[in-house]
Amino acid sequence: MASHIVGYPRMGPKRELKFALESFWDGKSSADDLKKVAADLRSSIWKQMADAGIKYIPSNTFAYYDQVLDTTATLGAVPPRYGWKGGEIGFDTYFSMARGNATLPAMEMTKWFDTNYHFIVPELGPDVKFSYASHKAVDEYKEAKSLGIDTVPILIGPVSYLLLSKPAKGVEKTFSLLSLLPKILAIYKEVVADLKAAGASWIQFDEPTLVKDLDSHQLQAFTAAYSELESSLSGLNVLIQTYFADVPAEAYKTLTSLKGVTAFGFDLVRGAKTLDLIKDGFPKGKYLFAGLVDGRNIWANDLAASLSTLQALEGIVGKDKLVVSTSCSLLHTAVDLANETKLDNEIKSWLAFAAQKVVEVNALAKALSGQRDEAFFSANAAAQASRKSSPRVNNEAVQKAAAALKGSEHRRATNVSARLDAQQKKLNLPILPTTTIGSFPQTVELRRVRREYKANKISEEEYVKAITEEISKVVKLQEELDIDVLVHGEPERNDMVEYFGEQLSGFAFTVNGWVQSYGSRCVKPPIIYGDVSRPKPMTVFWSSKAQSLTKRPMKGMLTGPVTILNWSFVRNDQPRFETCYQIALAIKDEVEDLEKAGITVIQIDEAALREGLPLRKSEEAFYLDWAVHSFRITNVGVQDTTQIHTHMCYSNFNDIIHSIIDMDADVITIENSRSDEKLLSVFREGVKYGAGIGPGVYDIHSPRIPPTEEIADRINKMLAVLEQNILWINPDCGLKTRKYAEVNPALTNMVAAAKLLRTQL
Ligand code: GLN
Ligand code: ZN
Repeated sequence: MASHIVGYPRMGPKRELKFALESFWDGKSSADDLKKVAADLRSSIWKQMADAGIKYIPSNTFAYYDQVLDTTATLGAVPPRYGWKGGEIGFDTYFSMARGNATLPAMEMTKWFDTNYHFIVPELGPDVKFSYASHKAVDEYKEAKSLGIDTVPILIGPVSYLLLSKPAKGVEKTFSLLSLLPKILAIYKEVVADLKAAGASWIQFDEPTLVKDLDSHQLQAFTAAYSELESSLSGLNVLIQTYFADVPAEAYKTLTSLKGVTAFGFDLVRGAKTLDLIKDGFPKGKYLFAGLVDGRNIWANDLAASLSTLQALEGIVGKDKLVVSTSCSLLHTAVDLANETKLDNEIKSWLAFAAQKVVEVNALAKALSGQRDEAFFSANAAAQASRKSSPRVNNEAVQKAAAALKGSEHRRATNVSARLDAQQKKLNLPILPTTTIGSFPQTVELRRVRREYKANKISEEEYVKAITEEISKVVKLQEELDIDVLVHGEPERNDMVEYFGEQLSGFAFTVNGWVQSYGSRCVKPPIIYGDVSRPKPMTVFWSSKAQSLTKRPMKGMLTGPVTILNWSFVRNDQPRFETCYQIALAIKDEVEDLEKAGITVIQIDEAALREGLPLRKSEEAFYLDWAVHSFRITNVGVQDTTQIHTHMCYSNFNDIIHSIIDMDADVITIENSRSDEKLLSVFREGVKYGAGIGPGVYDIHSPRIPPTEEIADRINKMLAVLEQNILWINPDCGLKTRKYAEVNPALTNMVAAAKLLRTQL
């Protein structure tokens, strides 16, 4: 019985690649230094998998920046503006495409399916001259071989590559990306020939787009592509790997009929429905790579359950044709549990990061072939049992409260226009009221204070004093700027999810549980392991303090349940919505405590609501329904005079506009400055959206200071589509990453623009 790993994290157990990349980019180390770090990481990963007993070990799973960009380099598909002159693509061109350079912006980046990983979107037009311009795949294969390890080189499959691309500027509307298939296949043939010559006996094509909603024309492209490659592939074992969801029935038919292919890889964690398709028919004599160890999460595998699934599959495909694998690349999980020094042993026994998952895959493969590691299996069974019954996981009161939610839609009794009237009587705001999204610049000094308090190096008293001073400064500044609805600036928060997670029960935090988000950037998601509850108020102390410093309304500032959920590692022992409802109840308690403390405007950020959208259209409605319901639960209990704001950091929600409206917030602030006014007409036309709306009037992602006239102009354009009495004036997002030297003049201009327009209305 064989074992296989779909792909592996590149950053290293302590983010070695991140630091090497950033030092190289800063000119502090050489290209050779960077290459050395990368080669050491690769060799240690290969050795680790070989030592664990993995048979099919991946290569070309490493990337300096991104695996899709690597494919773009392999194909020589460099957009002309980067001035590449041909030949092998070097760091200069590669990193210019990834990050931009002194004169050119980077290529566009977007989310990799429904993960938090972002890839560089290929830009392809009819004139691209493809050439075999990066030999990375074969170089890595040879590198592993020289270490005595025979690997399975991975390439992003040709059809997925094209389906993930976008048409180059100028041909957006007219160009069919799939028309490039013959041209890129010519390069794929060269790569395959090279790999064969180097001695490869297996090759893996990642074709994850097969799990999406594809039409027959798109499916047909797979058939055409692999027929075209068939003769080049002869003599090789070819694995087509899918992941992130089940393969729909039509796609399954196409996939399993592909010519020249010997093996199919499926995500059987997120794509459990694929099991039925396999049971209904799997091509004779082909290999099945069964992805049973979850690459998207940090939980230890339920080995007994996986083993019984594997035994059933064995009956279908035969003993020698079944390979145990991960559900997807381990890129999306943390690297090594061995480096977690702060988690207690009980929680650790429930977890498996990438390094541990490799061992699990191998243990399953060995058990299937009759060499079951009894000690390993019984320790695993004990951990599974302790997780199920642990009082740290189960809180009956929370479970009951969450179960009781299902009977109601949790809608505020009064409609939004009437509520806004009641609120205006209390708040007495000018027309076009100004506000900000929450955070103010986080200085080095501020970070130091938080760090030292956490490390017990300064007393609580000193900490409170320092944070209070910071809040006073921010309040004073906003009063001077004459902003209408103030914020406290969030100086006590390191991260908008972590801050709440640390105060809620049911959450655990790692010290090295980093996951690559893009390039050298990593995130460290909290782990939600148990029923969520709020032992005590989380923000009331700081919000009340801030409110006491001013007569103007001070916004209470919370992160919403859906965002907390989507930015964490979530339990796999109950549906996501259950966990979301529990978080919603905890936030509800906080909202009500803020209201009691005299906070009359409360913002509940749902920055990540859209990110949670499932990959398939058929599942969207269900997700949006419970996500939006969770948001409403948080604030259904407040009085009409309490104003609920929400904020979202994206503007492309034309498709989910009805859900946004269904959240029933009083005021919604959104990112808008980088998009056009089309979005606003959606608000106006689609539904009579009576609530306040604050489409960001300037881009906080750039250090540029927007002139007053420019902001006034933007506001004027918004007024052309939105009623003046519902329009709010605010930046795109929080100001955390900016400097005061940028924030002061930008906000000055923003307020000036609002005042200018007030005189003209
Ligand atoms: N209130 C948060 C802030 O201002 C919102 C951040 C976000 O939307 N990502 O930083
Ligand atoms: Zn935002």
